[in-house]
Amino acid sequence: MRYVKPHYYDNFHCIADNCPDTCCAGWQIVIDEETLENYSRVTGPFGNRLYAAIDWQEGIFRQKKGRCSFLNDENLCDLYKELGKDALCRTCSMYPRHVEEFEGLRELSLSLSCPVAAEMILTCKDPLVLLDEETEEEEELAEEFEDFDYLMFTQLEDARALIFSIMQDRKVPIDNRMQKALMLAHRIQQCIDEERYCDVDEVILSEKNTGYEHAGNPDTESRYDKMRREYQVFDNLERLREEWTAILDHAWNVLYKQGEAHYQRICREFNNSFGGNSKFREEWSLFTENLMLFFVYTYFCGAVYDDQVYSKIALAEFSVRWIRELIMAAWVSQAPRIADNANIESSDDVFDWKLCIEIAYRYAREIEHSDDNLNALEEWLGTGR
Ligand code: SF4
Repeated sequence: MRYVKPHYYDNFHCIADNCPDTCCAGWQIVIDEETLENYSRVTGPFGNRLYAAIDWQEGIFRQKKGRCSFLNDENLCDLYKELGKDALCRTCSMYPRHVEEFEGLRELSLSLSCPVAAEMILTCKDPLVLLDEETEEEEELAEEFEDFDYLMFTQLEDARALIFSIMQDRKVPIDNRMQKALMLAHRIQQCIDEERYCDVDEVILSEKNTGYEHAGNPDTESRYDKMRREYQVFDNLERLREEWTAILDHAWNVLYKQGEAHYQRICREFNNSFGGNSKFREEWSLFTENLMLFFVYTYFCGAVYDDQVYSKIALAEFSVRWIRELIMAAWVSQAPRIADNANIESSDDVFDWKLCIEIAYRYAREIEHSDDNLNALEEWLGTGR
């Protein structure tokens, strides 16, 4: 079995009660069958507690006020304390580690929705490297991959490697890199739609040798109109946490409500003080690069299952743009912006990584951790090309 993982993957350690948030609130945690069976055999007072705190029909932990029934006041897990680490269900013992399965290959990643993982992913100064390892382990899931298109997967891996090199070309402005990645995905998608599968290799080769001057068509729509239009998409998505609604409402109020001239002034000021035109341009660019590569690494090769290459990169680009937009909205009024436990410090002399990390992990909690949201967004982005 082949394993691929980002170079920082093994450095993750959960900080449990020191976590600025918790992964045991706001999500429905599904218990795997084996663990459910084990829980059913626990006796005594804790067995009674398990019996009451699990929805046995659905195989999920019941929640109290949006928190897992076993999450105590110190934000620690009572189940872990009582029965030990090995008693955790697969979801709890894995998180924030994530696995994408392909024939003969497991791609491991950390989820952006965990604040500690988000910090590791986003603040990494060295270019992201994917470590590739081969083990003696036998393929267990062979039947599931009967129709696996290995040729297409190889092309996707080549295309992803090219997107990595585009995104890591730090001599080029970051937004031009993103546009070039989008353009590459668009050209590959055209080949797939027209069943010209053999041309994909040629597209990859020709994009390798093309500069950035033709990367993307200039938008005919103003940024203000585009962002206002895209904002409506969030209204049709599932909402998992109240903080998310507060973030979106805040963005609407401070960015769009007062018209285009007001919005453009904010964009200019933000750009000059925090973003790509400021003394923090390197940090801003690094944050954007790492964010984009996180989405590309996690989702791009999944196109082998649905042929939707373009929507994977469009989702990455959309997510990066919106995380940056929500950071701008939070920057406009630092004080009451997010949750009470945000605990974000800001300084004129230090890049506000905490703000960037917080918005990124909150976005990931809402969008990435709902299959409905991910699918709806991808479909919308895929049809809009
Ligand atoms: S969100 Fe991450 S750091 Fe926080 S408790 Fe969960 S796994 Fe640990």
